[in-house]
Amino acid sequence: MKTRLVGSTLVLFATSFAQSPNAPKSFLPQAERLPPGVTSGSPSQQTFHITPLKPIEQLRREALQAEPPREQGKRTPDLVEVTKLDSTIHLDIRYASTNNFMGTPLYTQARAFLQRPAAEAVVRANRVLKPQGYGLLIHDAYRPWYVTKMFWDATPDDKKKFVANPSEGSRHNRGCAVDITLYELKSGHEVEMPSGYDEMSERAYPDYPGGTSEQRRLRGVLRKTMEEQGFKVFEFEWWHFDYKDWQQYPIMNVRFEDISK
Ligand SMILES: [Zn+2]
Repeated sequence: MKTRLVGSTLVLFATSFAQSPNAPKSFLPQAERLPPGVTSGSPSQQTFHITPLKPIEQLRREALQAEPPREQGKRTPDLVEVTKLDSTIHLDIRYASTNNFMGTPLYTQARAFLQRPAAEAVVRANRVLKPQGYGLLIHDAYRPWYVTKMFWDATPDDKKKFVANPSEGSRHNRGCAVDITLYELKSGHEVEMPSGYDEMSERAYPDYPGGTSEQRRLRGVLRKTMEEQGFKVFEFEWWHFDYKDWQQYPIMNVRFEDISK
């Protein structure tokens, strides 16, 4: 679904596994096979940086001039800003900061948009969590197609297989995928899960059996709550959820600042 860049290696975790008929099904001991940069026993994350093939401004200019793939028979998009529906949903939008593999902000604004039914489902999930002492924290939601193209054009040819091809787009481009975790209502702090966000390791699998029992419990609380509202967790990332109707929405390319709602 998305590029994973961890430690000294550029790795596409989800897509390479998802496309491989030989995708690994068994879990290895936690101390083994963790990618470079991931410390065994700690869910902390280190972000890998590539050297983009072209200057960021040139990549952005070229990507904004390009055309996303055209699709027929999709619903009319209706992107809404999640925090406008519920201000107790928190944001930590990594692609709006330097804390990502390009080492530079890709989004001009730290905002989270989803198609209305998906956004309303996230709001319901947040409401269900409140009596349990938790709220939702979004890392990424709708992602304009040109950003997916920037990732592709920035990446050296020998690493191209590790980035999502803009000719296919992603569920984030359709406004129907959300990268999300829990924060504690009492402290406002993000909870600790079995892996960090965007970590490329088996610890990111939603059924990874390691970590502490409390980390697994919290991962289970997130998954159960989201799946009850119409989302499905991604097979290789505990934080990535696809809304059930994602196929009905088109790949979109509108910038955050041009979304009127
Ligand atoms: Zn995602």
